Amino acid sequence: MRKIDISKEPCSECGGRLERKYITQEYEREGVKVKLSGIAALVCNECGEIYFQPGGADKVAEAANSLLRLAVIEKQHKRSLTAQICRV
Ligand SMILES: [Zn+2]
Repeated sequence: MRKIDISKEPCSECGGRLERKYITQEYEREGVKVKLSGIAALVCNECGEIYFQPGGADKVAEAANSLLRLAVIEKQHKRSLTAQICRV
């Protein structure tokens, strides 16, 4: 399998240039909202399309799902749960 350096690929939507950015994503399920911030991603500076590193999107979705499950268990309905990725 070929390893693609997506930071050198143009946006597949509009052909624009991709920039490395730290983004915030919000996920909502059953009235519970979780927010993940500080996720490293590539964002098109033309159309704003978001690209993750290979396999990154799955990991982010996994993290969001875990947080949503936690939020439901902890009955944090009507509250927001925020997770931030930090460098130590
Ligand atoms: Zn684009």
